[in-house]
Amino acid sequence: MKKIVILLLIASAFSCKNAQVASKDNSDPTKYVKYISEKDLKKMLYTVASDEMEGRETGSAGQKKAGLYMIGQYKKSGIPFPKGASDYYQHIPASYLNARRNQNLPDSENIWAFIEGSEKPDEILVISAHYDHVGIKNGEVYNGADDDGSGTVAVIEMAKAFAKAKKQGHGPKRSILFLHVTGEEHGLHGSRFYSENPLFPIANTISDINIDMIGRRDVEHANTNNYVYVIGADRLSSDLHNAVVAQNEKYIKMDLDFKFNDPADPNHFYERSDHYNFAKHGIPAIFFFNGVHEDYHGKGDEPQKIEYDALTKRTKLAFVLAWDLANRENRPVVDKPIK
Ligand SMILES: [Zn+2]
Repeated sequence: MKKIVILLLIASAFSCKNAQVASKDNSDPTKYVKYISEKDLKKMLYTVASDEMEGRETGSAGQKKAGLYMIGQYKKSGIPFPKGASDYYQHIPASYLNARRNQNLPDSENIWAFIEGSEKPDEILVISAHYDHVGIKNGEVYNGADDDGSGTVAVIEMAKAFAKAKKQGHGPKRSILFLHVTGEEHGLHGSRFYSENPLFPIANTISDINIDMIGRRDVEHANTNNYVYVIGADRLSSDLHNAVVAQNEKYIKMDLDFKFNDPADPNHFYERSDHYNFAKHGIPAIFFFNGVHEDYHGKGDEPQKIEYDALTKRTKLAFVLAWDLANRENRPVVDKPIK
């Protein structure tokens, strides 16, 4: 009798140990959110939004140069291109970019990087931002530091933080696709192309976190930059909305402004950035945005006008939300009709 009890104890101790190995405790992102660095964001943005990149017009030499710099950042951090792809590019032919409007755009590329999930690798979280801008007009370079240099560097910085967590044994349980889309300024082309030619099945894509302009403030918030507009989260999924509210409350404590999430708002920002191409396929999507300002689509959208403390804090909010979505028990449930 005694002998059997000892064997049972050994057996149960062994299985507990195995269970711990199988599922890491990734409940707390505190240690890893610290890797989101203001200094690093600033350094990258001064490069992405420099005159050298010629305003990153879709398909231009300047945009391709910015793309190479971004890929260099991923390579330096040991973050690969996705499984199933042959490099960091999703090529989009000119014929696709010009099909809807009477334009004359050359071929262009989405850029992607990937961190594979440790437990549910087939479930994919997409984190997106467009890296194109409007190029050169009348000899002036439109650098698009806020639009959307800010989102571009935020996505790279989040990837670097997830990569560091993975090296320390706390990689995300689901996979994350870091997606830099092109052709946004000409009609959300890059994100639409991805949604029609997804590398991973749409059905397995659990959410899209889209970032477009998070480095400035609008006139509504003249006295503080401790806010961000949150658009779209509850349109398809109460879980996604509840997740951003809870993670903000717990780790960031920023004012979440839902004004532009009102379907009756005349600006219709919900339909105006890349997350919409995910939402229309039934993927819960959330859009982080600082609102418009005097330099919106102007030549004054320069890196020296970015408020780097706000850019950093908003990137941290997107990171802790991504952390929750990638590690939570169940993916966000779609409980609202798809429109
Ligand atoms: Zn934009």
